[in-house]
Amino acid sequence: MTAHEVSLYNTRTRRKEAFVPIKPKEVKIYTCGPTVYSPQHIGNMRPYMFADLLRRTFLLKGFSVFHVTNITDVGHLTDDGDSGDDKMEVAAKKSGRKAEEIADEYTAQWLEDRRLLNCVDPDVLCKATDHIAEQVALCQKLESKGYTYRISDGIYFDISKFPGYANFAKLDLLKEGEGRIKDVSGKRHYADFALWKFAEKGVARQQEWDSPWGRGFPGWHLECSAMSWRYLGERFDIHTGGVDHIKIHHTNEIAQSEAAFGVNPWVSYWMHNEFLDFRGKKMSKSLGNICVLRDLIDAGFHPLSYRYFFLQAHYRKQQTFTDEAMAAADKGYRRLRAVTEGLAGCESDSSEEGVEKIVQRFYAAVYDDLNAPQVLALAGEVVRKSGLSDSARRYLVELIDSWLGLNLLSPLSQELGKESDPRIDDLVQRREAARQEKNFSEADRIRDLLMDEGVTIEDTPDGSTWHRFK
Ligand SMILES: [Zn+2]
Repeated sequence: MTAHEVSLYNTRTRRKEAFVPIKPKEVKIYTCGPTVYSPQHIGNMRPYMFADLLRRTFLLKGFSVFHVTNITDVGHLTDDGDSGDDKMEVAAKKSGRKAEEIADEYTAQWLEDRRLLNCVDPDVLCKATDHIAEQVALCQKLESKGYTYRISDGIYFDISKFPGYANFAKLDLLKEGEGRIKDVSGKRHYADFALWKFAEKGVARQQEWDSPWGRGFPGWHLECSAMSWRYLGERFDIHTGGVDHIKIHHTNEIAQSEAAFGVNPWVSYWMHNEFLDFRGKKMSKSLGNICVLRDLIDAGFHPLSYRYFFLQAHYRKQQTFTDEAMAAADKGYRRLRAVTEGLAGCESDSSEEGVEKIVQRFYAAVYDDLNAPQVLALAGEVVRKSGLSDSARRYLVELIDSWLGLNLLSPLSQELGKESDPRIDDLVQRREAARQEKNFSEADRIRDLLMDEGVTIEDTPDGSTWHRFK
């Protein structure tokens, strides 16, 4: 264990703060999940790898962690500024499929990509459509406290009743509102937002439910307040999401929850990850440049090379995806793993001199607002550092990988299958012989030679085997 404090950047206060939980040794986390009307591209996966690191941070610290992530399968309107139609409904109409079927397909894709990226499953994974009753109850609570009004289009949250509305995102409400005020007739302020939308008469919708106000469907923001209420209570420790949520979605979640529960702050720490810049552009369906994890795998990259790529930048820094950067990450990852997997058979030893110093540097980097690039560099250093025994290395790699989540101690060959090539077999045998003669410089020379042509050697108790990077 370690004396380091966990220090996190809190969007609410705009500074890095020592983490103080509501209950000692416990942390409750809510992460805004995907809207499952289309594939989740590689940029969409950044918030979940970030939340995964956060969860691992607290596990490392010995906390009990309770993590909730939602799946938005209703209510997210086509314009993130809260107008237009429901994204699920539009996707269903366009494709002639059932909204539920579309949601299932893209939820499965998201879950699979999470698994491939080694994101630990949340304790609760909740769908908006399974929690209509909770959303109605929250809307009723707000109504009874006088925070809502009704217009022909639905039940709206009245931000004039919640004076701190602009604080979280430091909004300039007059400037922000230009061009938005008249998006729905009858709205009192452009930033007022729908809690419950009425189903239009004569328009067949796939997703609508009965409510005290008539048939309709919940607004997107309501689900996160309602489901976190159900699973985490009226106050909790950390809420995460992408920076794009700060201005509207999280601002509205805060207004609803603080108004309904009479708490301030509702959430102690708000944490946001920055965007992925994709080959200099934003990824979008209309630009036709959506790249999903499967595309990277089909191009020959290991899925965890994308996690390695993500770890190369701090979560609060915008990261640029280019083909060259991805190829470099893939090479870096396979090189690292080629060495670390060889340590799997060693004893683990933490008592050696020099180990504790590295352990402390590791904790310091993790607890300093999740400094992944620093931890990744430390992993590279452990592998290369002379003066450490393989047992000490094994101990350190296992510890560091419990946070990085890169499977560093498992043999890559088991995932990639075997090949045969007599020339390489011969080189591997020559290296093996050199090792037995304790001619380590020759053994290393052959290993580097093979590495340069994309071949990794794996040393096992039964001798050495090899496989190609791609
Ligand atoms: Zn949310």
